[in-house]
Amino acid sequence: MTNMLKLPHQDSLIDFRCQLHRHPELSGQEQETAKSVTAFLQQYHPDQLLTCLGGTGVAAVFNGADPDKGPTVLFRAELDALPIAETNADLPYKSVRAEISHACGHDGHMAVLAGLASLLHRQKPATGKVILLFQPAEETGAGAWAVLQDKNFTGLQPDYVFALHNLPGVPLHQVVVRHEAFAAASTGMVIEFYGKPSHAAEPENGLNPGEAMAEMILALNQAAARKEQFEDLALLTVIHARLGEVAFGTNPGFATVMATLRAYKTQDLQKLKQLAQEAAAHLAGKYKLGHTIRFEEEFPATINNADAVGVIQRAAHKLGLQVQQAEQPFRWSEDFGHFTASYKGAFFGLGAGLSQPQMHHADYDFPDELLATGSHLFYGIAQEILNR
Ligand SMILES: [Zn+2]
Ligand SMILES: [Zn+2]
Repeated sequence: MTNMLKLPHQDSLIDFRCQLHRHPELSGQEQETAKSVTAFLQQYHPDQLLTCLGGTGVAAVFNGADPDKGPTVLFRAELDALPIAETNADLPYKSVRAEISHACGHDGHMAVLAGLASLLHRQKPATGKVILLFQPAEETGAGAWAVLQDKNFTGLQPDYVFALHNLPGVPLHQVVVRHEAFAAASTGMVIEFYGKPSHAAEPENGLNPGEAMAEMILALNQAAARKEQFEDLALLTVIHARLGEVAFGTNPGFATVMATLRAYKTQDLQKLKQLAQEAAAHLAGKYKLGHTIRFEEEFPATINNADAVGVIQRAAHKLGLQVQQAEQPFRWSEDFGHFTASYKGAFFGLGAGLSQPQMHHADYDFPDELLATGSHLFYGIAQEILNR
């Protein structure tokens, strides 16, 4: 599908995106990225500019012509990149950091919001306010929550919240919406077993958690395999396991098993967590081991509000963009679910092209053709809400 949308200063926005791509930063460490964003936004004279939200977060507030009348609409982008070495050798703006890259397209999402700033600067909405939020640490699931807890953010009080994600494998510029769940809930789980180390020549004097570890892996896979216990999709992937140290003279005394648990419904994720916890407790008892369990990188399901989805659809149709309803929620997780749990809002997808490398792949790069589409779509959503 061709798309003729253009932005003011489009070339400088593309340069901005490439500059962000060249200098990626990991979750929670986005200091330089936040500075670049802040500096770039100044040219559009936001009415308010907040920094250090939930760590490195930045928010620019643009008032409508009558800001005291009408609601406040928030749009979110993400500041962070991933610990993935980029393989695009020929890219003139390839990441300068050997082990870090913008493999999720957050550089593009930031530039989309910068493009929205240029549109808001050119023509204010009639009423209300628009907040552009650049959130830290999306990839670890920590950033949205940190921003929501920040005292400086709680003063902003949005009435509506929106965010988009580019979607490789979907036709370029196509808008993907879904009522109810858009992205899955997920959590990392770390199980540790404690026995007693001894000399490898005297295993009878130690307590080796190897069998418990092996049975734990099987039990985790079995917990997720009993599909009848869940209302909808529930998945578990064992991602890491370790038994003691690499030392042939030692009978190991500890073991770790890690898994990622995932479900479309919060209650299914709770059920899966409970089954995994019960299995760990059972095995610890069976082999007389100590054990601990902790959960890391927890993401809620991203649940969309029906009115907000309607607003996205109307704005997309006015721009002549194709809209597709996703049949299933996406299996990946998105910490924007914390925002849709607190405010009326919706998350949607924007097709990044059928031949585009997948997200989190080493050769991924955000397609610049999407910048104008994303910015105009966000602007159209703001107009739907603030110009009625
Ligand atoms: Zn990602
Ligand atoms: Zn992402």
